[in-house]
Amino acid sequence: MDLYEFQSRKLLNEQNIPIHRDVLITDIIGINKAIEILNNHFPLVLKAQVKTGGRGKAGGVKLAKNLEEVKGFAQDIFALNIKGHDVHSILITEAAKIVKEFYCSILFDRSKREYLLVFCSEGGVEIEEVAKSNPNAIIKHSFSPVLGLNEDIADEMCKKIKKTSNLNDDILMQIKNIMKSMWQVYKTNDATLVEINPLALCEDENMTQKIYALDAKISVDDNSIFRHQEKISEYEKFHQNMQVKNELDDFAKQNGINYVGLDGNIGIIGNGAGLVMSTLDVVSFNGGAPANFLDIGGGASKEHMQKSLKLIHMNAKVDAILINIFGGLTQCDLVANGIIDALSELNIKTDIVVRFSGNNAKLGLDILKTKNLPQITVAKNMEEAAQKVVEKASENLKNRQK
Ligand code: GDP
Ligand code: MN
Repeated sequence: MDLYEFQSRKLLNEQNIPIHRDVLITDIIGINKAIEILNNHFPLVLKAQVKTGGRGKAGGVKLAKNLEEVKGFAQDIFALNIKGHDVHSILITEAAKIVKEFYCSILFDRSKREYLLVFCSEGGVEIEEVAKSNPNAIIKHSFSPVLGLNEDIADEMCKKIKKTSNLNDDILMQIKNIMKSMWQVYKTNDATLVEINPLALCEDENMTQKIYALDAKISVDDNSIFRHQEKISEYEKFHQNMQVKNELDDFAKQNGINYVGLDGNIGIIGNGAGLVMSTLDVVSFNGGAPANFLDIGGGASKEHMQKSLKLIHMNAKVDAILINIFGGLTQCDLVANGIIDALSELNIKTDIVVRFSGNNAKLGLDILKTKNLPQITVAKNMEEAAQKVVEKASENLKNRQK
């Protein structure tokens, strides 16, 4: 099983390999909090979390100088598809001032039944490219599974590195300690690969030079899962959540629904981007967490409402739905009929709070009332709608967790 970069970084850090501080976001709403955690200290690096390399080249790694740039880049990166992988999470990290980039990895050489420690003074780029263009730059040292990567092996490797680079002893010592720690990462997690690229010589604010892992790739042996139940199920859960996001996004795209997935448990449907945005704000302000942005647009048809409800219903995290319609071009009575049909056809039991205003609002509400569906609650205005949906959602969440 391949881990995401942010998961790999945690494992490196557990063995005291220096990494820069980072925060994961899974939607743009998380940006403000993330930046606060990182002490509003710019520049910051945004990195697409996808299980493939070459993100930098694909536009998935960006250096942002201020909040505006973070928001802009985050939007761009979430819209990317990198080598077939949609981006559903971004790691925001403190930016490093890089002096030089290296490559370092530990892998398993099956044919020789040995481990291999690999170091290359040309890091950052893909190692396969260096292997073609400058194979001599790659230093390898094998070691036996019985001895592991011990002090002697690390020493010998450092001697080889010293011959081909002009690194001073202090830096070499840091690299040596990192290699030894990488072996700890490898062993304790039953890895089949621990790769740091780039392993970078960075300059701190006080001009001291220090080695950091800027990117990491770890693969865990699938046969060892029983030994790491807790961690693995956490990894799998995260991955599944990302896959679900994928399905929802695909459904939205295929059906022309203007949808952005968020992390909460309150499904939102509204018409007009501005109204939907303020609905998200009012729900958040009342202590709720929106599960999505969904704009059904002007003059939305019954079918469009059905598809939108279906999409929201596909998200298993949703505990209640808020439908907030301002009838301009859209006729609220048509929306009402769309809701009723969708509920019966799709067998949706989720609680729904409805607020209509404008064109045929009264007619629409009357249609809902005469149907007398227990799951539908009608609200007079947006504030009341938000309060009610937050109440329903938290009740349902509690029941679900029992
Ligand atoms: P990859 O392209 O998927 O391997 O993603 P990386 O995380 O390795 O980032 C690609 C490149 O972006 C690195 O080789 C660096 O040159 C650059 N990069 C990553 N993090 C930083 C940073 O903190 N500061 C600077 N200046 N460059 C960075
Ligand atoms: Mn990399």
